[in-house]
Amino acid sequence: MRIGFGYDAHRLIPGEGIVLGGVHIPCEYRFEAHSDGDVLVHALMDAMLGAACLGDIGQHFPDTDMRYKGIDSLLLLKEVCAYVKQAGYTVQNADITIVAQYPRLSPHIPSMQSQLASCMQQRLDTISIKATTEEHMGFTGRREGICAYSVCLLA
Ligand code: MG
Repeated sequence: MRIGFGYDAHRLIPGEGIVLGGVHIPCEYRFEAHSDGDVLVHALMDAMLGAACLGDIGQHFPDTDMRYKGIDSLLLLKEVCAYVKQAGYTVQNADITIVAQYPRLSPHIPSMQSQLASCMQQRLDTISIKATTEEHMGFTGRREGICAYSVCLLA
């Protein structure tokens, strides 16, 4: 068994909504990012790559590559699942924590969970997603950005 850890953060700028866990959440912000800025999926992919000792998403999907401009991060997640499989591993479970002061994420968590599970061809109970705030402290608390942490166990 192998464990991996991932972290990602993106800045919020004025816009028409954000994508988190493959789910579009309407709000008055968007992510400033080369891809769709889905920090949840980015943290998860880095946890999976870390567990398999396969580098990081910056190496696999460089933000200088125009192919990845505005890309749906779920497509990248599919690729990472294929790398993990090729390396001979299967995902046992993943646990993700999103840190956001705003918007309120709890109503969207079940749809994020089913998006990820179906994208990864995993059982729902292997993908855990939690959300928290930092009580108005720091960059997430000031609504300057959103970040996510993830661990993933492979066997
Ligand atoms: Mg990112």
